[in-house]
Amino acid sequence: MAATLITLQPRPEIDPSVDHAIQAIVSGASTDATCTTDLAVGPWDFDTRPGYGPGSSMGDVIPTGSPRQGELPAEYREASDDELDERIRAAKATLGDRVVVLGHFYQREEVVRHADYVGDSFQLANAAKERPEAEAIVFCGVHFMAETADLLSRPDQAVILPNLAAGCSMADMADIDQVEECWEQLEDVLGDLETPDADGLVPVIPVTYMNSSAAIKGFVGRHGGIVCTSSNARTVLEWAFARGRRVLFFPDQHLGRNTAKAMGVPLEQMPMWNPRKPLGGSTAEVIEDSRVILWHGFCSVHRRFTVDQIEKARAEHPGVRVIVHPECPMDVVDAADEAGSTDIIRKAIAAAEEPTTFAIGTEINLVQRLAAQYPQHEIFCLDPVVCPCSTMYRIHPGYLAWVLESLVAGQVVNRITVPADVAEPATVALERMLAAKPNGAVK
Ligand code: SF4
Repeated sequence: MAATLITLQPRPEIDPSVDHAIQAIVSGASTDATCTTDLAVGPWDFDTRPGYGPGSSMGDVIPTGSPRQGELPAEYREASDDELDERIRAAKATLGDRVVVLGHFYQREEVVRHADYVGDSFQLANAAKERPEAEAIVFCGVHFMAETADLLSRPDQAVILPNLAAGCSMADMADIDQVEECWEQLEDVLGDLETPDADGLVPVIPVTYMNSSAAIKGFVGRHGGIVCTSSNARTVLEWAFARGRRVLFFPDQHLGRNTAKAMGVPLEQMPMWNPRKPLGGSTAEVIEDSRVILWHGFCSVHRRFTVDQIEKARAEHPGVRVIVHPECPMDVVDAADEAGSTDIIRKAIAAAEEPTTFAIGTEINLVQRLAAQYPQHEIFCLDPVVCPCSTMYRIHPGYLAWVLESLVAGQVVNRITVPADVAEPATVALERMLAAKPNGAVK
């Protein structure tokens, strides 16, 4: 197993499950607040409704044509937590090495406890490669992550997403048609985008965050661009600036802005591209003068964090160490002590030798798990309202039991397959990233 992955421990005494915390809030057993009481019901209640479902992304607009999940059989909807837990364990035991279960850091505890590997999206896609004997990879994350696992796994391995409605509102904010249209408009302003100038630089290099569809990764691969993660964004931007005059960065404006600002790019040379406006809402002059063109996308989980929350944490917990994810807005990253990917946050806590108070700006499931894992520290989420990622929430143990028991019965359900014409250039973009060295925190 890669050193950067967490090896799962036996079920902890204190169950840090957000789902159970939400049950307590809704029943009045806890005085905490949650963003919606709808979180207390099974996610299958939302499978037939349009939208991302309850949680941080519930106000975002879901694109038409997004994958929908068919009805989960009643036996899984009606089973108790304990029954589902037992059925998942039994199915995994029967399948043995034929299956590997991957759990994202932001996934709920009742699911993560069954994962063979826990990590961020890229770590998990690589973890799948470490189990070449597995016929099936069950990815307890969101849609773009399962696509990436399909790109990096063997063609005969089936990648399964337990709930097809588990998309990602940020990834959905960069639609391939909008990106193609943007590219054409940039060509109108900047000329031929494929031809280098006298210095060997092309006018623009497209860079996409890992949190994007395979179609976007394929676009980037076809146009000389590259993928980045929140851990290596700076290294990737350096790679891009060595090859182009400017960067088109999508879908997350905040990761792009925070990273480029830390590299010394002035804010006035980072115009926003709003795909619903001509020239992205900008002017030809601004585009010509730009260094990084930021796509108008964001993560609704990380957008919830504010400078007020940091000031309150500092007032109430003198000496608190504030660490936030670089998908948070710039003013929040600037006000924090440190900013870095989920893996960097996790490592910073693991490395703290003295008992420390940490205020963390990232998804609640990860924060609660870290708090349970490191009881010598006080660890809390900056956001006082319990509001998990809507789409991670869609992966309930009922869906995990269903896909695993289907495999036992010889049926592959919910397989995610990237078409070959997209997979080829998308893999090129991922390989370019692998050749660039990871860099660490953005601040
Ligand atoms: S936390 Fe944000 S970026 Fe991650 S899956 Fe959820 S919506 Fe997407």
